Amino acid sequence: MTIAGTDLADTPAAAGLRAAKRVVIKVGSALLVDEATGRLRDTWLQSLADDIARMRARGQEVIVVSSGAIALGRRLLGLGQGVLRLEEKQAAAATGQIRLAHAYETVLGPHGIQVAQVLLTLEDSEARRRYLNARATLGTLLKLGAVPVINENDTVATAEIRFGDNDRLSARVAEMASADLLLLLSDIDGLYTADPGVDPTARHIPRVPRLTPRILAMGGGSRSAVGTGGMATKLAAARVAGAAGCAMVIALGRHVGPISAVEAGGRATWFDPETTPHTARKRWIGGRLSPRGTLTVDEGAVKALARGGSLLPAGIRLVTGRFQRGDAVAVVDPAGREIARGLAAYGDADARAIAGHRSAEIEQILGFRGRDEMIHRDDLVFHGGDMPATTGDDTEEAQAS
Ligand code: GLU
Repeated sequence: MTIAGTDLADTPAAAGLRAAKRVVIKVGSALLVDEATGRLRDTWLQSLADDIARMRARGQEVIVVSSGAIALGRRLLGLGQGVLRLEEKQAAAATGQIRLAHAYETVLGPHGIQVAQVLLTLEDSEARRRYLNARATLGTLLKLGAVPVINENDTVATAEIRFGDNDRLSARVAEMASADLLLLLSDIDGLYTADPGVDPTARHIPRVPRLTPRILAMGGGSRSAVGTGGMATKLAAARVAGAAGCAMVIALGRHVGPISAVEAGGRATWFDPETTPHTARKRWIGGRLSPRGTLTVDEGAVKALARGGSLLPAGIRLVTGRFQRGDAVAVVDPAGREIARGLAAYGDADARAIAGHRSAEIEQILGFRGRDEMIHRDDLVFHGGDMPATTGDDTEEAQAS
C-alpha cells in the first residue's frame, strides 16, 4: 500500500499503530540521553516530535511516558558515572526532570503542540480517589489537544512505593487512560525465542496473540534477566496492558524517526490485547470493586441510565454508606433493586448535600465546582434489574481478613 509516496507496511505493528486512537509511547533513557556525554540526543528527539506531530495530525491522541530525568540530572549535578545512592538519584531526578520537560516543550512547541508535565507515583494508579483524579486530568489534557509527558515522581517516591521502571509505569498509564496501544521504544526490536545476544538460533517473534507461560519464560524470568534489555519487565507491562484492553508493541527506538520506522515495517513485536479498553473498564467497575455505599435514584434517573446516560445529583433520593470520591457505589431503583454500579465523583457527605439538586447548584452548596455528574457514564456499568439487592458489604475486605 502506498499513500503519498510513503510505503506503508502491513506488519501487525505497522497496521496496529496506524489504527490506534489513543497511544502511550514509552521512551527509554538510553534513547534520549547519550551515554558517553550525558547530553540529550537532540536530533533524535526532534525526529520523535515530528512523528508525534504526524500522529496528532491524523487524529490520534498521544501520551508520552519518558525516562531520562536521572540520566540528565546526574551530569548537571556533577555526580559522575558511578553507581548513585538513592538520595543522589532522587536529587538527579529533581534536576533532570526540568531539563527533560523543557526538551519536549522545545521540540513539540514549533508543531503547535502544548506539552503537559505529569509526575505520578504508584499510589496515583492504585488509590481510587487519586486514580480518578489522574484519569480525569489526562482525559482533560487530551481533549484540549495537549500531549502529556509523564514520568515517575522519583524525587519523592521511596523504594517500597515505586514503580521502579517506566515499562511498568507506562502500562499503568495505558490502563488508567484507557489507551488502545502502548508502544515501548526500546533498545531491542522485539521478543525473541531466546536471548539473541547469547543464542545465535534465537528467532524474532512478530506477533504474540496470548501471553502463555512459554512466552513469559522467553522474558528470561527463569534463566537470567540480563542481556535481553529488561524483557521481563516488558512482558509484565504487556500483561497489565493486555488485561486493560490495550495492545502493546516493542520496537527498536534508536534510529531517527522511530515511529515512522515501525510504520514502514521495521521489525517489532505486537502483543494482542485480551479485550477492548471499554469492556475491560466496565468489567473492572462492575465486578472487581465492591460497593461502599448505595445511591437510591428516582424513575427519571433509571430511564436516563438505561439509555446510557450519566447519573446526575438531581435524580438521587437517598445516599447510604461511607465512601470517598472514586469509590465504587451501587445504584438502586425505587423498588430497591441494584441497577448499576459506578465510581462516585463525590464522597458520601457531599453526595448527601447535593442529592436532589440541579448540577448548576453544586458550587453554591459545596463551595467548589466539581463534576456535574454524580457518576459519569464512563465510570458506570448499567445492568438493569438483574442483580440482587446489594448488602453493601465489602468482599474485597472480607477476603483480605
Ligand atoms: N524515572 C526514571 C528517570 O526518569 C527512569 C526509570 C526507567 O527508565 O525505567 O530517570
